[in-house]
Amino acid sequence: MSSTTPATPSKFRVAIVGAGLGGLLLALFLQKYSTDIDVDIYESAAKLTELGAGIGVWPRVMEVLKFLGLEDDLKEIGGAHDSTAQSVHYRKADEPKAVDIRVFAPALLTFSRSDLQAVLAKHLHTADKIVYSKRLLAYVEPEAGQLDPIVLQFKDGTTATCDLLVGSDGIRSAARRTMFNNLADAAEIRGDKEQAAKLRTMIEPVWSGQVVYRGLVPVDKLADSAHSKDLQKTLILLGKDRASLPSLSATNVHEANIDPQDIVSYPITRGKTINVAAFVNTPGAEGTTYTKAWVTESTSAEVLEKFSGWDAGVQDLFKAMDKSLSWAVHTVRGLPTYVSGRAVLIGDAAHAMTPHQGSGAGQAIEDGFILATILSHPNVTLSNLFEALKIHDGLRRPFSQGIQRRSQMTGYLYHLHRLGWEHITGEQSAAGDYPREMLGKIGDELESAMGWAINESIMDDREKALKLLEKL
Ligand SMILES: Cc1cc2nc3c(=O)[nH]c(=O)nc-3n(C[C@H](O)[C@H](O)[C@H](O)COP(=O)(O)OP(=O)(O)OC[C@H]3O[C@@H](n4cnc5c(N)ncnc54)[C@H](O)[C@@H]3O)c2cc1C
Repeated sequence: MSSTTPATPSKFRVAIVGAGLGGLLLALFLQKYSTDIDVDIYESAAKLTELGAGIGVWPRVMEVLKFLGLEDDLKEIGGAHDSTAQSVHYRKADEPKAVDIRVFAPALLTFSRSDLQAVLAKHLHTADKIVYSKRLLAYVEPEAGQLDPIVLQFKDGTTATCDLLVGSDGIRSAARRTMFNNLADAAEIRGDKEQAAKLRTMIEPVWSGQVVYRGLVPVDKLADSAHSKDLQKTLILLGKDRASLPSLSATNVHEANIDPQDIVSYPITRGKTINVAAFVNTPGAEGTTYTKAWVTESTSAEVLEKFSGWDAGVQDLFKAMDKSLSWAVHTVRGLPTYVSGRAVLIGDAAHAMTPHQGSGAGQAIEDGFILATILSHPNVTLSNLFEALKIHDGLRRPFSQGIQRRSQMTGYLYHLHRLGWEHITGEQSAAGDYPREMLGKIGDELESAMGWAINESIMDDREKALKLLEKL
């Protein structure tokens, strides 16, 4: 990394823009794999601040964290008392007493986001520096074929240079904005106005139609609840829309009625705190523009009111939650490329997805793993970086966009919009008036939807990358 004495001269300089989980993991992977790549990290915030409280990690992603040598540290900060993966309990909870759907055997490791970020920062060599309060506005690339540096332009008026720009700057990525404006400008110069217009639609994120209330519940505050012990499990609670709205205008949909949809809760900080995320949905609003502030403060009373009639344990959970933040859940459209010239997008900048597979950060981590594998390969040099990045794009884009689509489909399942449930009304669902075997169908579908995260290994993709790099 930049301030250490490299064993061999630097083959190129990488600028990682954005020190979220994706950017930090990439820096760690590069530190592990390469001695001849200089890295600078630019972060817009004044210090490391992971937004949101908890994060869940499935076995496929845990494999790469173990590969980095983080296992022991992660055990120290695990969510459950015994620091092991928790079983995941899927239930239908839009009725007074929740009904079991399926239990996944110990599968999910849960963490406080700030604890996880602190572990990553601790493992970056002390000499490595993150440059804080550096908000990227745009970047300027040399003409195609030129090996001159890329120039980064920051909001404070300063500039920096690099040979490779990694945009890990999250869902509202400035790197994505520059990349897709440049691609659109090039399409216009070719006379392809339609393509140019399409490329510009890739810049802004789109609203998923959902808002999530995120809050924390100290376990002590649940002591009087009859459900106290149960609420300390990892729970994914599904429910049916109460109403469907016939037609909504694109500009005011977020003012319309909303439906409670699903709740995810799990312990963090060694079982002292429960992390809660409660989703509501505005039917028909997916893909429209959310015109209010994305993040606002809300109260536990607000959330209780939205989930009235749901399982009694859920009511106890919300009563014990002092306050919450409501977040409008946005996604990035399926990009036609993550790579242009010597710039590459990773994490939410490339593929922000709905959280229903609990995998946005996991996909950012996978991006970092494969990208670092590629960049550190001896065959990769400054002059063939673009070809090397194409290998990353070929492996990571189809996979991560597949998870993006799966997340959307899993969301429809959580709202009970699939597998025959679309014919059951909200009232019937809340009254328990549906054939019981329909629960089994959801369980089977969930197992098939999440199988990749539990049973598959990313090492297969690493092998593919290494084979392709041999031919570079
Ligand atoms: C309710 C909810 C629950 C979730 N649960 C899970 C889960 O259980 N498991 C999971 O894997 N994922 C989960 N996710 C998704 C996950 O949070 C994100 O996918 C992940 O945090 C993205 O990481 P990132 O590093 O790409 O982006 P971010 O975490 O957004 O980091 C981007 C960084 O870039 C910085 N930045 C932004 N703009 C600039 C700029 N112009 N210049 C410089 N720096 C900049 C930011 O300050 C930030 O530090 C969840 C998401 C939500 C909304």
